[in-house]
Amino acid sequence: MNRKDFIKNITLVTGSVLFENGRTFAERVPKYPLYKPEVNNWEDSELNVAWIGHSTVLINLFGTIILTDPVLFERVGVEFMGLTYGPIRYTYPALDKDEMPRPDIILISHAHMDHMDYRTIKFLTSKFKNQISCITAANTKDVIDDLKWKNLEELDWNQNLDLCETRFTGIEVKHNGWRYPFEIDRPEYPEGRSFNGYIVEKNGVKIFFAGDTAFTQKFKSLRKEKIDMAIFPIGGYVPKKQYHCNPEEALIMADKFIEAKYFIPVHCKTFDTDDELEKPLIWMNEIKDNYKIKVVINDIGQTFKY
Ligand SMILES: [Zn+2]
Repeated sequence: MNRKDFIKNITLVTGSVLFENGRTFAERVPKYPLYKPEVNNWEDSELNVAWIGHSTVLINLFGTIILTDPVLFERVGVEFMGLTYGPIRYTYPALDKDEMPRPDIILISHAHMDHMDYRTIKFLTSKFKNQISCITAANTKDVIDDLKWKNLEELDWNQNLDLCETRFTGIEVKHNGWRYPFEIDRPEYPEGRSFNGYIVEKNGVKIFFAGDTAFTQKFKSLRKEKIDMAIFPIGGYVPKKQYHCNPEEALIMADKFIEAKYFIPVHCKTFDTDDELEKPLIWMNEIKDNYKIKVVINDIGQTFKY
């Protein structure tokens, strides 16, 4: 989201009760996903990756439970007097907040409202007090450091951290980091808010979670890592192309640059500010056969078992 869009979204939501982005009240009731992860059947010996919605992915990496960018309430945005002002969901999360198993680690790519959702993170750390670790980008932990963490770590680009028998590496992506329009961010200011992708590795399996990114040649340097699975955003490119990639660009980066084996799409079909809504998944499915990489998830709620 750029600064102008941030202000536009807040104004849109606060200024319209019955009509939002041109949709009537009845039309903006979120849809339920068609699929639901069967987390109770997951074994510690397995690798399961389930798309919960937007960039929220629940990963069982051989017994280590990782939850990326958790966003589980009906809106994301600024909280004021007990209400959240910001985009409303188009699709409910595939697991309700009360059904979410305790993550060992919450992995946060950056401090944008739709990735670092204070309300969801507060809910999880209150329910599982002092039991969850968190890894987030450089200069972002101040947003959530009042919550009841087991530990809260910042990881910068090219840094490693070993946690729960799992290795995490911070990767520079092409995005921006400010949470509020008045904040500074990278790359102009080294002390500004940062934005990460992550390589997550356990038992010789490597997952790349790209967070939020535009198209970038930078990922060619990840080819040597021999990534098994790439989780990429495919929405948000209208009109924010300088910060988000489209499905074709995501597939090019995951397949041709990184040479990963499996592709998992995220960051679409979840909030009604995503102007594309259903389009990115349709586009992805139309072109996926042009690539060697295997698309293993097609919709919110689906699980890939490795
Ligand atoms: Zn973002």
